[in-house]
Amino acid sequence: HKHDMSKEHMMEIRRQNCNPMIMKVTYYKKPVFIHQGHMQWLWDVDGRRYLDLFAGVATVSVGHCHPKVTAAAEKQLRKLWHTTNIYVYSPLHEYVDKLAATLPEPLKVIYLTNSGSEANDLAMLMARLHTGNFDIITLRGSYHGGSPQTMGLTSNSAYKYPIAIGLGCHNTMCPDVFAGPWGGSHCRDSPIQTIRNCSCPQGLCMANDKYIGQLKEVFATSVPSRIAAFFGEPIMGVGGAVQYPKNFLKDTYKLVRERGGVCIADEVQTGFGRTGSHFWGFQGHDIMPDIVTMAKGIANGFPMGAVVTTHEIAASFGRGVHFNTFGGNPVACAIASSVLDTMKEDGTQQISHEMGTYLLMGLSKIRDKYEIIGDVRGKGLQIGVEMVKDKVSNREPLPPAAMSEIFEDTKDMGVLIGKGGVYGQTFRIKPPMCITKDDADFFLAVFNQALNNYMEAHH
Ligand code: PMP
Repeated sequence: HKHDMSKEHMMEIRRQNCNPMIMKVTYYKKPVFIHQGHMQWLWDVDGRRYLDLFAGVATVSVGHCHPKVTAAAEKQLRKLWHTTNIYVYSPLHEYVDKLAATLPEPLKVIYLTNSGSEANDLAMLMARLHTGNFDIITLRGSYHGGSPQTMGLTSNSAYKYPIAIGLGCHNTMCPDVFAGPWGGSHCRDSPIQTIRNCSCPQGLCMANDKYIGQLKEVFATSVPSRIAAFFGEPIMGVGGAVQYPKNFLKDTYKLVRERGGVCIADEVQTGFGRTGSHFWGFQGHDIMPDIVTMAKGIANGFPMGAVVTTHEIAASFGRGVHFNTFGGNPVACAIASSVLDTMKEDGTQQISHEMGTYLLMGLSKIRDKYEIIGDVRGKGLQIGVEMVKDKVSNREPLPPAAMSEIFEDTKDMGVLIGKGGVYGQTFRIKPPMCITKDDADFFLAVFNQALNNYMEAHH
């Protein structure tokens, strides 16, 4: 690795020339200086290998530097890199044809962008133009982007700035069956249930009605009678893998449509087989969105995003010119195309389903051993482990210093995971969808050890 810049030199350049915020979010106290990746593995500049269970926030979908995807990128780089679709070229058409085939009718019209924020910006604009309404509702705790428009959708103060953001954006209570006031342990779609006692009669979710009641209150107090849209992730990502009661999205969509709004599924994290049971997260909720946005895993980490909608909405939007210089460039399309092929060939969705269930089962056993693990949840390889001060007496978030200690220790033992939740209280596990049972066992052993170490030091 002698050609890599030294660690000290990189840190000095970071101090002098980089966005000062990135100094704060190097994530670890002792940063990981990554050098190379292959499938589920990352190597640092000292040659230490890490099992990567975060994949750059669910971004690396089929594996770091997957040989087939890399070959497709190289081939296209030698042939044509151009800006966008002012000319007609094959990679874009091959790609949208393949992507459209993964989505049900009537979701067939595709717009290509370069990021998730851009995709959500576009979806907001489409919803407003199509409905003639302005107001948009999201779930508290969600993340939908960092551009000035999407910052309004994002309902997490850490990502907000004091500018005129969020005009027309409103949020409703997050239907969180663990931390929320109403339980709902039988009402979420996960191989494992919450440990919290649920007062709902079996098969009847009372909590859902309460959360829907909160949404009705938003309708009654915060928005005009007609609205533009509802934005929601099928399983929350940055918000900490929060899962809603089973019918929450279905009931929400109905109410939103009654008020003239369109329903938007943000699949930036949950798409492309991440939830295991389905290729698209929304398919696990028995709903049909009007607009779907995607990014991250779409091109295995290469910058790309997309908005998919119906011909009808596309027609309303088409009254103006929409242009995006890099969106849908041939290299991104060739990569994304090969990602879809690779997903089929490698069986990533099946791996996501099987390994996700295996990890959830293993984690639920660990949960039962430690009083600081409040909840284990998720589906497929979109998993959250919510940490608490003490699960018996309360569900207060485990403080950041404690989270960081367990997090750092897990890394020092060779596994990278993520953090999330409004209070940074949830560990997030969303690996490249190529992990094996051995990897899962390794992580479970490491995580158990990190918790053991923490408990021995502090209790
Ligand atoms: N939506 C969701 C659900 C996300 O997790 C993110 C990124 N964390 C975005 C949108 C924004 O994507 P990007 O960072 O590519 O703009």
